[in-house]
Amino acid sequence: MILGVLKESGTENRVAILPAEVVALKKIHIDVLVETTAGERAYASDMAYEAAGAVINSREEVIHDADMIVSVNPPVDDDINLFRDGQVFCSVLNPVINSNWLEMARLKGLSVLALDLIPRTTRAQSMDILSSMATVSGYKAVLEAASLLPRFFPMFMSAAGTIKPSRVLILGAGVAGLQALAIARKLGAVVEVFDVRSAVKEEVKSLGGKFIQVEGAKEDSAAGGYAVEQTEEFKRKQQELIQQRAIASDVVIATAQIPGKKAPVLLLKETVYAMAPGSVIIDLAASTGGNCELTENGKNIIVNGVNIIGKSDYPSEMSTDASKMFGCNVINLLKIMVDKEGKLNLNMQDDIINGTTAVHGKEYISQRVRQMLNIK
Ligand code: NAD
Repeated sequence: MILGVLKESGTENRVAILPAEVVALKKIHIDVLVETTAGERAYASDMAYEAAGAVINSREEVIHDADMIVSVNPPVDDDINLFRDGQVFCSVLNPVINSNWLEMARLKGLSVLALDLIPRTTRAQSMDILSSMATVSGYKAVLEAASLLPRFFPMFMSAAGTIKPSRVLILGAGVAGLQALAIARKLGAVVEVFDVRSAVKEEVKSLGGKFIQVEGAKEDSAAGGYAVEQTEEFKRKQQELIQQRAIASDVVIATAQIPGKKAPVLLLKETVYAMAPGSVIIDLAASTGGNCELTENGKNIIVNGVNIIGKSDYPSEMSTDASKMFGCNVINLLKIMVDKEGKLNLNMQDDIINGTTAVHGKEYISQRVRQMLNIK
C-alpha cells in the first residue's frame, strides 16, 4: 500500500507522520509519499524524509498516487476534487464542524477514518490520538500557567525568607488533568483535583494530589469511563465548593468535558472576581464552551487581574513530540488494517475499524457519527 502524507493548512504545526515513522511503516510494507515541506513546521525536512525512504512530491501527485492519505486535520474543501473514488482518508475529523466536507467525501466514494472516534477500549489504547494530544495539552497547560504566574511554583527557603508553594486546582481528572497534576507536582506546587468520577480518586492520590469530592455525583458504568451530565442540585453544591477552592488557588487548570455535550460550567464569573489578581486560569475545555463562564475560545483575556487562557492548540505548539505520538498512534491503527504484504483491508466486523469509519461505500458507518449528524 502507498500512504500519502499531506501538509497541514493554517496555523497547524504538526505533521501526521515524521521520518522515523516512515521507517516503521516500511517494516510493515507500507510505502510513503510526502507532500513537499509537509514536515517543515515540525522540524522535519524533505531531505530527512527522503533519507528515511519516503518520496517527496506535490500535493496533487501525493493525493493522486496514494491508496490511503493521512493528515492531522481534514483538508480544505477545494481539495476534494483531487481525491478519487475508493481512496481511504484518515485524520482527526470533528464530524459536526466538518460535516460539509464529510458529505462531499461520502458522495465522492471515499472511506473516511476519523481518528477522534477511535473507541476508548483497552485494545485501542495504543491508537488513541485524543489521549496522546490530551497528554501534550496537560503538560503545556502547566508550563504556560507557571510562566504567567507572578509567583514560584515550588516552596523556596532563601536568605530573603520562605516562599510558600503555589496552589493549583485541577478540574477534571481525565488524561489531560492527570498529566497536569503530575507536572504541577514535579514543579513543586500543592495540587487539588476535582472530578465527578470517583474511580479517579486513587490515581489522583498516587500522583500526589488531593482529591476533592462532592457527594451525590451521578456516575454511569455504561458511559465507558466518561462523565455524564449531573443534576441541578449537584451542580449547585459543586459550584460552591469549587468557588471556595478556586479562591484559595493561584492557578486553575480546567479540563472537564462530557463527550458530545457542551463542557460543564464550573467556574462562575463571581468566582473569577473573587480570585486574587495575578492568578491564572487555563481552560482546556474552551473549544467545547469552556469550564469558566468568562473563557473566550482561542483568546487570552485578563479579567480583574486574572489571566484566562482559552487556547486549544497546545499540541500544535509542541509539534515534534505531538507529531511523533500522532504518527505512532496512526501506525498502530494501520497494523490492524493491513495484511502481511501491506495490503489494505477495511474489515467492518472489527469494532475499532467500524467505530472509526465515518463513511465507507457512500454510507455513513459509525453509529456516533450518525447520532452526531442526526442521520436515521
Ligand atoms: P474528557 O476529556 O472527556 O473529560 C475530562 C475529565 O473531566 C473526565 O475525567 C471527566 O470525568 C471530567 N468531568 C466531566 N464533567 C465534570 C464535572 N462536572 N466536574 C468535574 N469533572 C468533570 O476525558 P478523557 O480524558 O478523554 O477520558 C476520560 C476517561 O476515559 C479516562 O480517565 C479513562 O477512564 C477513559 N479513557 C479510556 C481510554 C482507553 O481505554 N483507550 C483512553 C482514554 C480515556
